[in-house]
Amino acid sequence: MKAETKERLDGLLRDFEDLGSRLVGYPCNQDFDYSALLPFLGYVANNVGDPFHDSNFQVNTHEMEREVIDFFADVMHLPRDEAWGYVTSGGTEGNMYGLYMGREIFPDGVVYFSQDTHYSVVKILRVLKARNIMIKSQENGEIDYDDLRETIRINRDVPVIFMANIGTTMKGAIDDVSKVREILDDLAVTDSYIHADAALSGMILPFVDDPQPYGFDAGFDSVAVSGHKMIGSPLPCGVALTKAEYVARIARSIEYVGVLDTTLTGSRNALTPLMMWYALRERGFEGYREAVAGSLEVAEYAVARFNDSGIPAWRNRNSVTVVFSKPSARVVRKWQLAPYEDIAHLIAMPHVTRETVDAVVDDCLEGERGK
Ligand SMILES: *Cc1c(COP(=O)(O)O)cnc(C)c1O
Repeated sequence: MKAETKERLDGLLRDFEDLGSRLVGYPCNQDFDYSALLPFLGYVANNVGDPFHDSNFQVNTHEMEREVIDFFADVMHLPRDEAWGYVTSGGTEGNMYGLYMGREIFPDGVVYFSQDTHYSVVKILRVLKARNIMIKSQENGEIDYDDLRETIRINRDVPVIFMANIGTTMKGAIDDVSKVREILDDLAVTDSYIHADAALSGMILPFVDDPQPYGFDAGFDSVAVSGHKMIGSPLPCGVALTKAEYVARIARSIEYVGVLDTTLTGSRNALTPLMMWYALRERGFEGYREAVAGSLEVAEYAVARFNDSGIPAWRNRNSVTVVFSKPSARVVRKWQLAPYEDIAHLIAMPHVTRETVDAVVDDCLEGERGK
C-alpha cells in the first residue's frame, strides 16, 4: 500500500473509533463481530434475483438469505410456506417494496400515514405517484385514530393502504394496528392493505413479554425491518417480507440473468444476507431476548436519570428511544444526537451502557450551567 494511502486510512479508522464510542442518537447497534466473514470479501458474490428461485449467477448467498426470511416469517407470525421476502439495502427499500405491493394490488388506493412517519415514505409515495393523505399524530407520536377514522370515512369508496409505524424514528411510537382494523371494519372498508414500517421495533416486539399488536396475524400485509439497527451491521441492510401470493402478481422472468425479477434492485448485496444470517444464528432467539431486555432496562434507567437531573424525559412502552429536551448544539454534536424541534433522543442500543447514559446526562447538565 502507498504510504499516503495508509496514512489516510489510519486517520479514518481513528475517527471511526472515536465517533463510534459516542454513537447514542441513532439506532445502530455496534455490538457485533463479523470477522469470521472476512474471507468472503475476496469474491464477486451477487444475490441478483429472487432468493427463492435459481439464478445463473451462482456465487450467491440465496440459501442463507432464505433462512433469514424464515426467521422473520416466524417472528412476524407468517407461516413459512406462505412467506416471501428478500434482504434489502435498508428500511427505505423495504418500505418502498411494501407500498409498491399495496399500490399494485389497489392501484386506486389512498395511502394513509401519520405526521411522524419516516421521511422515506413521502419520497416513496412521490416515486410511486400514489395518492396519499397525511394524518395527525398524537403527542406521543402515535397516529390520531379519530383523524384517521374521519378521513377514511370521507373517502370510503376508495381502497385503504395503511402505512403503520411500528416504532417511529423520533419517538419510538407504535400505531395500534388492531385499532386500525377496527376502524376499517366499522366503516365496512373491504379493500385494504397494511404495510408496517418496523425498522427498529420489528426486532424488539418479538422479544418482549407484552408487545403491542404486530405481525401478519394482527393484519400486516407486508413489513420492513432494518438489519443494521437492532441486529447491527457495518453495511446498511434490512428485510422486506410479504405474502408469496402477492409477489406472484408482480413477478417477471428475465432470461439474461435466469432469475425471477421480483426484487426492486437488480444486483444485490450477497454479504449483508450472510451477516444477518450469521448474527441471527450466533445470537439466536434467546440471545436477542436478552439483548432487548438489557436495552429496555438501560432506556428506563436513562428516563429516570434525566428526570432526576431536572431534564424532562420519557419513552413509549417497549421502546428503547428516550425522548428528552434538546440540549446545546455542542452536546448534540458530541453525542451524534438527532434533534427535532425542541426535543432530542437517545437510543439505548446494546452498545449503550448505563455509564454512557451518565456521561450524556452530565454533559447536558454542564451545558445547562454554561448557559
Ligand atoms: C431508520 C428508519 C427507516 C429507514 O431506514 P434506512 O435503512 O435508513 O433506509 C425507516 N423507517 C423508520 C421508522 C426508521 O427508523
